[in-house]
Amino acid sequence: MDFFDIHTHNNKPVKNVFSIVNKYPTATNFTNPFSIGIHPWFINKNKIDEEFLIIEEKIQHKNCLAIGECGLDKLTETDFELQQKVFRQHILLSEKYKKPLLIHCVKSHQEVIEFKKELQPTQPWVLHGFNKNIHIAESLLKNKLILSFGAAIINTIKLEEVVSKTPISSIFLETDTAEVKIQAVYQKLAGIKNIEVIALQKEIKNNFTKIFKR
Ligand SMILES: [Zn+2]
Repeated sequence: MDFFDIHTHNNKPVKNVFSIVNKYPTATNFTNPFSIGIHPWFINKNKIDEEFLIIEEKIQHKNCLAIGECGLDKLTETDFELQQKVFRQHILLSEKYKKPLLIHCVKSHQEVIEFKKELQPTQPWVLHGFNKNIHIAESLLKNKLILSFGAAIINTIKLEEVVSKTPISSIFLETDTAEVKIQAVYQKLAGIKNIEVIALQKEIKNNFTKIFKR
């Protein structure tokens, strides 16, 4: 595969692209590589136990590459304490089954870092859809989180500084729910880093092999 899209909600395979498709516990199709978790927007208090049973079963599927997306979001209506409880459960599963964690984080970067400091996970943590400032990026990188960038880097000027200062070894790329081709995201990153797309492909592939053990 030439391109790696580590977080997408698009179920259709794309030529030359290795994708990790995001799945919720309600999903039924697991024929392609996937991650699975409870998104903080969709936490249903009465279904948590049932959903974690499904997640724990699906984690053991050969196509499961990561746990998530899961995480913390201060702009959603879900009770924040409940979000933290559910996030912690995902972290524990990620450790138990040795799968990387794909994190959704809105205005909760400090809390994510606190969790990392408290639980000292051995599994990699990838913060998906990063689009914040350099200070936040630096504190996440200092705490050994990996940043995944998506369509936002194509037209957000302020993200260029963040991307240019983030070492490629701590970067993944994704399309998430955006109507964008992963190739365009690679192209943009290569431009900012001033390297050829082919050189970037090699580096992202190395990251992928290292983090997702494929
Ligand atoms: Zn997503």
